[in-house]
Amino acid sequence: MKNFMVCPNKEKLRTKDHKCKLIFTQKTIVEEIQDLYFNMCIFKFRPYEQLSNPQDFDDTELFDVIGQIVSYGDVQSVNQDGNVRMFMNVELQDYKSNNISATFWGDFVEQIKPHLIESNDKPVVVVMQLVRAHRFREQYSVRNTWHVSKLWINSDLPQILDFSSRIVSVCGESSQIITQISSQKTHSIEDELASGSVGFKTIEALIDSKHPGNFWIVATIVYIDLEHGWSYLACKMCAKKVEPEGNKFYCKKCGQVPSASHRFKLKLGVIDDTGTIILMMWDRDATKMIGKSANDLKNVVSETSGAADDSSIPIEIENFIEKRYMFKVDVQNSNCENQDEVFKVLTFTDDEDIIEK
Ligand SMILES: [Zn+2]
Repeated sequence: MKNFMVCPNKEKLRTKDHKCKLIFTQKTIVEEIQDLYFNMCIFKFRPYEQLSNPQDFDDTELFDVIGQIVSYGDVQSVNQDGNVRMFMNVELQDYKSNNISATFWGDFVEQIKPHLIESNDKPVVVVMQLVRAHRFREQYSVRNTWHVSKLWINSDLPQILDFSSRIVSVCGESSQIITQISSQKTHSIEDELASGSVGFKTIEALIDSKHPGNFWIVATIVYIDLEHGWSYLACKMCAKKVEPEGNKFYCKKCGQVPSASHRFKLKLGVIDDTGTIILMMWDRDATKMIGKSANDLKNVVSETSGAADDSSIPIEIENFIEKRYMFKVDVQNSNCENQDEVFKVLTFTDDEDIIEK
């Protein structure tokens, strides 16, 4: 390599721990040479034990891992900053039968899929090159970065051949079959946090979002906006709002329907240390939070007050004022473009263990 620049290695993510790095300019010339004595080991493998050692944990340094895929989950997707990102959780095993979890993102998912489908019980050995460590609640895993990482699958590089022959010598030819673990459609909030696929934001940062996406916030409910009530009369078939029409109801989608039910539509004013917004919580989450259906509450209200007056607030809902929750919110285009400060709730938790984290 000729005509290059040398400068300090101060990237946020370091591909090497050397204090300097070489920079290409337009005048740099690179020529390939053949030298049998040159050390061609391009990997810096990190042992699995070291990855799960809290003292060694460093998520700013990139490193390499080698392993055999022993199980993998469904391809999942998540909306990050307005981009739909694909990911897949994979379990890697070394030849000493230690395991480490890995999250494959984007290109890695595309590259590994055909190998998993056509593995025919042959081991799939991969090198994840220039990847990052990730920690969530004492659980350690590795993940690729967006632009730097590279995936080598069953390659004939000497290190991979060496690893494969060690598996055979330890486990025999009949090595482990790859199992597919089907993640449930509603995977738990804890799993999602562990994968790091949805980020946290303060309310201030949420209001300033320039791109749509999903984020977690931790916020306290301070008031319930009752300007449009706390429920609506919904079509039983499609859950859209209906209008009474004689002794029946009219739904814009389904036409005339014989009956309708009440569904929650709660507007919650919430705050954290940085600001305040309104969250729109629909029937499923509101029912989960309150522990009663809107129909049940409506019946109680009409029995006690004689009328189903939506501007008064049932004690069951009022009880949630001053309580703190972790909400997953959907930042939509309208939030970014029109400074609309009503955000839709996708899910929530009141699990203090998770919130404190
Ligand atoms: Zn309908």
